[in-house]
Amino acid sequence: MKLSIVVPIYNEQDIISHLVERMENLRPIFYERFSISPDEIEILYVNDGSKDNSLPILQSMCYIMKGMRVINLSRNHGHQIAITAGIETAKGDAVVVIDGDLQDPPEVIPELYATMLQGYDVVYAQRKKREGETYFKLITAKFFYRTLKKLTNVDVPLDTGDFRIMSRRVVDVFNSMTEKHRFIRGMVSWIGFNQIGYEYERHERFAGSTKYTLSKMIKFAIDGITSFSSIPLKLASYIGLFIAITGFLYALVVLYLALFTTSTVTGWSSMMIVVLILGGAQLLSLGLIGEYLGRIHDESKQRPLFIIEDIYEHPHSR
Ligand code: UDP
Ligand code: MG
Repeated sequence: MKLSIVVPIYNEQDIISHLVERMENLRPIFYERFSISPDEIEILYVNDGSKDNSLPILQSMCYIMKGMRVINLSRNHGHQIAITAGIETAKGDAVVVIDGDLQDPPEVIPELYATMLQGYDVVYAQRKKREGETYFKLITAKFFYRTLKKLTNVDVPLDTGDFRIMSRRVVDVFNSMTEKHRFIRGMVSWIGFNQIGYEYERHERFAGSTKYTLSKMIKFAIDGITSFSSIPLKLASYIGLFIAITGFLYALVVLYLALFTTSTVTGWSSMMIVVLILGGAQLLSLGLIGEYLGRIHDESKQRPLFIIEDIYEHPHSR
């Protein structure tokens, strides 16, 4: 199998027939441009527990369309898990991930493939502009990607979704990453090798409405930040350190006022000092726990420690 295309589907009944048609149109294009025969391309639709007629529609199309497979998940697992299921099942030497709402135009896939042939392992599609999205989505998305970049040490490219093509070796590493909370664009960027962006215009949804509710967006953002950064955990130690230092300085002032002036109420000074020092100490130790928790968190992800790209050796050595 030369190419696998993974399409997550959740309640997209109004789009599917059009989607499948546009996808099937890719086969002749791949044959003409890359001499890849139509049966060397598999198109995997992952039905993520749709509650509408998406599954029956997909199933019926499956019977007439060769090279089309439908993976049906037991329930709604969410976008990122649906994609993961598709990637794990894919057999292709290259695997494409694309949204099923036609916001990512399928016609871009041959371009991604062509770019990959120039020697890249990952070609991620980068949005030049976003059509037909609410102002709220634009602002939150922008804010999220900028914050993520500041908080994490993984370079997640700006303005990219999960629309991308990956080589087999990247897919194999990806499949070995067993973490439960998945932030795929971050994980793929973490894998490394040669990655490059390809600019395209993101369209409006063909039909239906976004399946990312505000709560799903928040969960997604939290997954993204916490799986690549333990800075939020360390927040307590920074605040604690700050409070402990200012508290100590202020305690000196309180002590001075109590000893050398008559302006203080009896008992105030000792109360104040106890509160400040205890508060600082508590936050500091909370932060300390955070540090250890952060390490446990890193370990529990069970990611491979490193990824070897190539091994060179002398042609005569054995
Ligand atoms: N999707 C999914 N499971 C979900 C939510 C979404 O499989 O729980 C699919 C959805 O059908 C679409 C893609 O993931 O093909 C992207 O979702 P959506 O368009 O709602 O996200 P947005 O473009 O608004 O970020
Ligand atoms: Mg969409």
